[in-house]
Amino acid sequence: MPHGEINKATKKIIRKLTEAGYEAYLVGGAVRDLLLGLHPKDFDIATDATPEDVKKVFKGQCRLIGRRFRLAHIYMGNQVYEIATFRGDDSGDRVLKKGRIIRDNVYGSIEQDAIRRDFSCNALYYNIDSREVLDFVGGVEDLERGVLKLIGQADQRFIEDPVRMLRAVRFEAKLGLTLPTEMAHQITAHRHLLHQVPIARLFDETVKMFHCGNMMEAYQKLMDLDLFKILFPTAVDYLQDPNWHNLMMHAFSNTDQRLKQGLSVTPVFLTACVLWPPCIELYEKLRSQGKPPHDALHLAAGQVLSQQQKSLMIPRAIQNGIRQMWILQLRFKKMFGKGVYSTLHHPRFRAGYDFLLLRNEIDAQLNKQADFWTNIQNMPPENVKSLIFGKR
Ligand code: ATP
Ligand code: MG
Repeated sequence: MPHGEINKATKKIIRKLTEAGYEAYLVGGAVRDLLLGLHPKDFDIATDATPEDVKKVFKGQCRLIGRRFRLAHIYMGNQVYEIATFRGDDSGDRVLKKGRIIRDNVYGSIEQDAIRRDFSCNALYYNIDSREVLDFVGGVEDLERGVLKLIGQADQRFIEDPVRMLRAVRFEAKLGLTLPTEMAHQITAHRHLLHQVPIARLFDETVKMFHCGNMMEAYQKLMDLDLFKILFPTAVDYLQDPNWHNLMMHAFSNTDQRLKQGLSVTPVFLTACVLWPPCIELYEKLRSQGKPPHDALHLAAGQVLSQQQKSLMIPRAIQNGIRQMWILQLRFKKMFGKGVYSTLHHPRFRAGYDFLLLRNEIDAQLNKQADFWTNIQNMPPENVKSLIFGKR
């Protein structure tokens, strides 16, 4: 276990809790990632102290949050650390509606906390003093064998929380684990339950999927398991077209590469890429009916986005970003006059330009635009001026 990778604040928080007489462990994704030699993105802590106990230990550094399940947030450095009290599983306080968890706000033992987690690899606890991994569900062995395993009975776990189906695909792609055929069958049998998940949560999961670092593979799996169409029913048929498929492959591989290089990513980009085919095809249709370009694009964008809102709740700010990225694709056609400056200084220029380059990968007719917008970025102002206003 690469103990040194665990950040100082996490160790400090755990020590403070154990010194106060409680049990506290590093848990979940961080332990899993460390065992796999990956860099955890956050460090979660589990303890037998109740949130109120945690508050007493950390006082002003601690805030209690959450209604369904109370959590303690500890502020240390510029970061927030999440501390969850061991959660019980089958007490009377747990309310199931059609088999789904509605409310579970009951504390439990560490073993109970382990078995209510989703996959065995996500249910490992690390004791930073003894440097031991506590494993109640065979998670270490599953990690060594490279398989993703649900804790408990698959159908029951998917019914309880259908989002676990998307998590399975994400962890398979992200961690390079195998999603067993049996689980794939269970997903196929239960995928319709995803329609019952609040669409805001579905969007959050979609974004995590987009940014899992191996979206090329995740996409293939989402298509194979017929899950992609639940997320993007408006786009899925278009994406069967080899050209659009090709565009998506470039887009996903581009995002995977950016993440590998530690570059920033935004949910705007891939969402705009996925919804581009239906938008542009509607745009072409409206154009052929005589609508002017900008009106046609606004109408098409509005229709595609509002249609999409039925499956995923895309936050307003992200929708606006998507619109701007699309509108830039029209503006890139105009390579002369003052408008060039405002395009160049548009707040979404970077994302729009990256998308133009992707589109150019499948469409050689865009060579001229791609070259123009590439060259102009590094040109001395004088040359830009003569280029866009014609030779003096
Ligand atoms: P990531 O690297 O994506 O953050 P993670 O495993 O840390 O992966 P989180 O969503 O941050 O995933 O959740 C933290 C932990 O909480 C998980 O490792 C898992 O033990 C538990 N968990 C999260 N979501 C669920 C769920 N839907 N059902 C059961 N357990 C869950
Ligand atoms: Mg996490």
